[in-house]
Amino acid sequence: MRALTWISTAAVLTGAATNLTACSDGGATGTGGDTSTTATTTTAATSTSTSAGGAGGTGGAGVTSSATGTGGSGGGVVHPPAGEDFTRDILTTDLELDLGALTGKATITLAGSTTSKAASFEIGDLEIASVEDDSGPLLFVMKSGAHGSQLDLGVPSGAAPAKIVIKYAFAPHTMFDGWMAKEQLSFLWPYFCGNLFPCKSDPADGVAFTMKVTGVAAGMTAVFPASIASDAPSYMPAVAVAKFTKVDLGTTTKGTQISAWHLPGQEADTALGTAHLFQVFDFYEKTYGDYTFGKTAGSISANWGDGDYGGMEHHPYWHVGKNDFKGEEVHAHEAAHGWYGDGVRIACWEDFVLSEGTVSYIAAHALEQFQVDIWPDYECELQYVCDPANGANTIALPTTCNTIDLLNDPLWSSVPYMKGAYFFREVARAIGVGVLDTAIGEFYKANVGKAAKMQALIDHIKTKTDTVGQKAVDDLETAWLKKLDCPVDYTKLCPATP
Ligand SMILES: [Zn+2]
Repeated sequence: MRALTWISTAAVLTGAATNLTACSDGGATGTGGDTSTTATTTTAATSTSTSAGGAGGTGGAGVTSSATGTGGSGGGVVHPPAGEDFTRDILTTDLELDLGALTGKATITLAGSTTSKAASFEIGDLEIASVEDDSGPLLFVMKSGAHGSQLDLGVPSGAAPAKIVIKYAFAPHTMFDGWMAKEQLSFLWPYFCGNLFPCKSDPADGVAFTMKVTGVAAGMTAVFPASIASDAPSYMPAVAVAKFTKVDLGTTTKGTQISAWHLPGQEADTALGTAHLFQVFDFYEKTYGDYTFGKTAGSISANWGDGDYGGMEHHPYWHVGKNDFKGEEVHAHEAAHGWYGDGVRIACWEDFVLSEGTVSYIAAHALEQFQVDIWPDYECELQYVCDPANGANTIALPTTCNTIDLLNDPLWSSVPYMKGAYFFREVARAIGVGVLDTAIGEFYKANVGKAAKMQALIDHIKTKTDTVGQKAVDDLETAWLKKLDCPVDYTKLCPATP
């Protein structure tokens, strides 16, 4: 993510769950005995009713419900009642999206549990059509949740992974909170995944994905990853549809092919913005470690509307606002999220600086290898943050964990980006640029595919230096990340060009 103009509009939408429609199609595949229903939940905002089960069949795996006691006689599988359990680890989500019909099928594999008989997902404003496993329909209820609606299932317990198939319809969205049908772009950050597929938006949760996309209009190209094999945050997978032209930029030393997909008429912008993207990506791989989201990657020009800018870390094909496609910074920034933010996930939303501060630093550090200096731009952004007149300053690294609503918190600002970038730059000056690179790379290799705390990275950096260096890192951590006032004279930053 790079700071965008629509920050405030996205925040407006947090509670914009739309109507939920009752759906009682239980699958009707005829494999069960008598099947069961039903739980109804009414919330203040919406009312939902649900059911599991389908038309009865002729024996086989009968579905019984210990909740409702209306079980069938056709088989031996006892399906537990719907229940809430957000602790079940999602291993993989195989996602099939029909962008024409606005329907989806999510095949979700959960880690086995011998104790839990439930699983819960955020489902935003999805309309659930059916929920089943290999033995037939599962019992489920929907109710109001943290981000729109919540789906609670009954899942038979067992040591083996549990595979659940959920069919549903999704709604078009307009405010960077789901499938943006008009723009033909998905946007799920930070916690809108439930508007596109059943998920858990906690940034610490990682999941591997496969994606299939159908229903794309004739003459258009859909760009999406067919497979994301390494654990990723739930906001990472995305699809973009437009009349794209693909430009191959080169293959890195490690063998990753880097491309750009631009909109009609963007040949010159693409040449400018991606002039060093391939080299920058090569630098990240060599300096910090192997890329884990596939052997192809690159920037997609996202037509988010007039005046759009910024970007979004949809690896391996990250989105860059079409108006920023001509600048090198956002390309380098979003690419760097393959290492921090996506590669190493943040443990809590309060660790936002581990994603954005680290990425802002390593993007500038990579570009300066190729004589592109983006620090003057950062300096002006830092001045804005630090000038009390703008009311934009906040503490970059809060000590709580997931107690804030990021989109409605002061932390959702340039502060983690700029105070974070300057923290790292000052640390590099104190302990050595190469020492810091080594520390950032070691921490990446130890934590890729996992969630981590910013504090853990800082603690690791301190192991790479002597007591004098450790004291310097401590002081910089306090000054840049733990205090409100900036440790610089903001009036001297960002001098006007003579
Ligand atoms: Zn970012």
